[in-house]
Amino acid sequence: MTKEKMHVKDDILEVTITDIGSDGEGIGKIEGYTLFIKDAVIGDTVRAKIMKAKKNYAYAHLEEVIKPSEYRVEPSCPIARQCGGCQTQSMSYERELLFKQNKVRNNIVRLGGFEEGFVDSVMEPIIGMEEPWRYRNKAQFPIGKDKNGRIIAGFYAGRTHSIIPVSDCLIGTVENKEILEIITGHMEKNNVQPYDEKSGKGLVRHVLIRKGFKSGQIMVCLVINYRGSKKDGAEFISGQKALCEALSKVTGMTSISVSINTENTNVIMGYEIHTIWGEPTIRDTLCGLEFEISPLSFFQVNPVQCEKLYGQAIEYAGLTGKETVWDLYCGIGTITLSMAKAAGHVYGVEIIDAAIEDAKKNAVRNGLSNADFFCGKAEEVLPDFYEKQMKENKEAASLHPDVIVVDPPRKGCDEKCLETMLKMGPDRIVYVSCDSATLARDLRILVDGGYEIKKVRPCDMFGHTVHVETVVLLTKASGSEG
Ligand code: SAH
Repeated sequence: MTKEKMHVKDDILEVTITDIGSDGEGIGKIEGYTLFIKDAVIGDTVRAKIMKAKKNYAYAHLEEVIKPSEYRVEPSCPIARQCGGCQTQSMSYERELLFKQNKVRNNIVRLGGFEEGFVDSVMEPIIGMEEPWRYRNKAQFPIGKDKNGRIIAGFYAGRTHSIIPVSDCLIGTVENKEILEIITGHMEKNNVQPYDEKSGKGLVRHVLIRKGFKSGQIMVCLVINYRGSKKDGAEFISGQKALCEALSKVTGMTSISVSINTENTNVIMGYEIHTIWGEPTIRDTLCGLEFEISPLSFFQVNPVQCEKLYGQAIEYAGLTGKETVWDLYCGIGTITLSMAKAAGHVYGVEIIDAAIEDAKKNAVRNGLSNADFFCGKAEEVLPDFYEKQMKENKEAASLHPDVIVVDPPRKGCDEKCLETMLKMGPDRIVYVSCDSATLARDLRILVDGGYEIKKVRPCDMFGHTVHVETVVLLTKASGSEG
């Protein structure tokens, strides 16, 4: 028997990549010793240098691709490896979709404890993008200086705060480049300094750009470290009028604002917003509804795929016009209001006050009067509502919603929330998830509580990254009556 060989830092090894890790890294094995290699593609044979060695595994740096995989492609973006925003640009898009499908499947099997054969029987094929580039309607670019003192806009290099200049990110809109060039050009000409984190000096911190894909309207918001008079009409940036005039020539420009952030923080946006040109908001349509979007509003960043994902959720909800629906973690009410059009009554629950205010306005704007919104934690609002109803009304039927939809953040649903859902016993549960690991954990709880998984459908909202969304339909198991 050969004894497992331990490797050490700086060892250079040749290995064939046989698997993909959850962060998109290549995984290869040498006599039971596992190597995790960023930017190596499944099927590649590579030479890699060990950076950090443990007893049974190591993280290694890709030194050279000796034999490229059939799935390897040249990254479209010249700085894909440095930037770190995209993790899978070296892999063909078809292979990336398969990776995402398998990631969801394997998490449900391994972390949810479901049988492979069963999971395969409920999995539907991933909804991929027709055009996996230029899909993001929002970008936030930090502004800084390069080594030569030139003003640059770009992205932070993976896990650092040093800016890599990129004005034309390929997953963002084509207008970003023109807008950033106008801003950095203006700063050079008017001696407007970028903010410096270390000294707390300088003015311009970030530029937020948003575009309504359907409306064509564009919003620019400059996040500034401004300490002067904070009045509308103030000159926040030297030469402000000329800057606005130049930006207003960009096709679609609708709103230019500044957001004041003087804190020493990683939070990008400041709360105080002043419109310096045009409208305070832009509008866009999503799922046939009109939304008004301010610089601080949450809005889905990939509207094309979002419509497909929510369309799938609506289909799973099986609405006929009479149903009572709860939409937990509802944000600005996108899913809630899409469902309101096809259901009897809908309730939305969301923790952020401003999002609930937007949701209510969105209901009015779209002429929907059968939606009620509650601000609070889903794990508190739902049990409170349920217990109050129990006290007031002993009729079980009125307590029982037809459908509960959940769309929680990455950490998944709180257990108390899941417990209450089980008590309320809806006919159908539609789980929209952005993290298949916590999804798998929550599915186990729902299935142990008397539900059956009927369908699982991944959807790619973030092409060239490792993130994948999933929508799951569960129904009450036959013989389980709440
Ligand atoms: N469905 C929404 C987006 C959901 S994102 C849309 O289409 O726009 C997840 C949302 O859950 C966020 O808006 C977040 O603010 C909210 N949230 C996070 N924790 C929560 C909790 N404990 N209870 C209710 N909402 C919560």
